[in-house]
Amino acid sequence: MQTTRRQFIKTLAAGSLAATLPFAVKGESRNYHTLTILHTNDVHSHLDPFEANHPRFPDMGGFARRASLINQIRKQNNHVLLVDAGDIFQGTPYFNFFGGRPELELMSKMRYDAATIGNHEFDNGIQHLSDQLKYADFPFICSNYNFDNTILKGKTRPWKIIENGPFRVGIVGIGINPSGLVSPANYEGMKWLDPIKTAEETGAFLRNEKNCNLIIALSHLGINSTSERPDSDRKLAAETSSIDIIIGGHSHTFLDEPEQIKNKAGKNVIINQVGWGGVILGELNITLSKGKTTFLSTQHLLK
Ligand SMILES: [Zn+2]
Repeated sequence: MQTTRRQFIKTLAAGSLAATLPFAVKGESRNYHTLTILHTNDVHSHLDPFEANHPRFPDMGGFARRASLINQIRKQNNHVLLVDAGDIFQGTPYFNFFGGRPELELMSKMRYDAATIGNHEFDNGIQHLSDQLKYADFPFICSNYNFDNTILKGKTRPWKIIENGPFRVGIVGIGINPSGLVSPANYEGMKWLDPIKTAEETGAFLRNEKNCNLIIALSHLGINSTSERPDSDRKLAAETSSIDIIIGGHSHTFLDEPEQIKNKAGKNVIINQVGWGGVILGELNITLSKGKTTFLSTQHLLK
């Protein structure tokens, strides 16, 4: 397997991201700790690599390549998370024939820790989505999709806490307004809650009451606000104070490097998104050392 990597190292200003993280851990003598966040978004049923003559992504991507790279990274790093920001379904005949089951089974084999639901997860209706979720060993985090009056009740979670070394990570999941994107019959009974307000409240709850020291939002809002769709990752970053990192999706944005946006409290929030189709595996390494938090961003182009 050949992968090409592009890397960016950033030092965050003192007192910014995760300044409250502990530096010493029982049993570990190192004076630094790194959390590796591996992430995908908008994979859209691209189980196989793109065709060899594809104009943009010749022979790139594919679940097998991604899985072997993830295994390699897990061997080299102590604290690894693997997450997805939605639109797992739709885009190749695999979805038309098998309805999403192979996507979820293979992601389970890759040991995803969490994902959120994108608008295309509703393409075959809420009953279908509900039927497929049993093939996922990992939870779908949906903070602002309330499914209590639907068949999905109890099958998603409003948040999740993952403990990994010194990191106590709170995961929030934020879904796009389905109106105008999804046929109303396909999400009947679901209540869509304000994404910014819900993210802020859930993040604050996880930080203050559940003692999380890093809050990650898996967001399917899209990176940029428009007049039709004012909610976006940039708005989410700027108008909250409880979120540290936003792993985005929906807009299929290939960022050259993660963005940093000042939040309501003047601290930097990292936003990252890795295009679509599974051609890139994103990697964010958050390192705590001598009172400084730095992050290293790597884009693994899977080819
Ligand atoms: Zn989408």
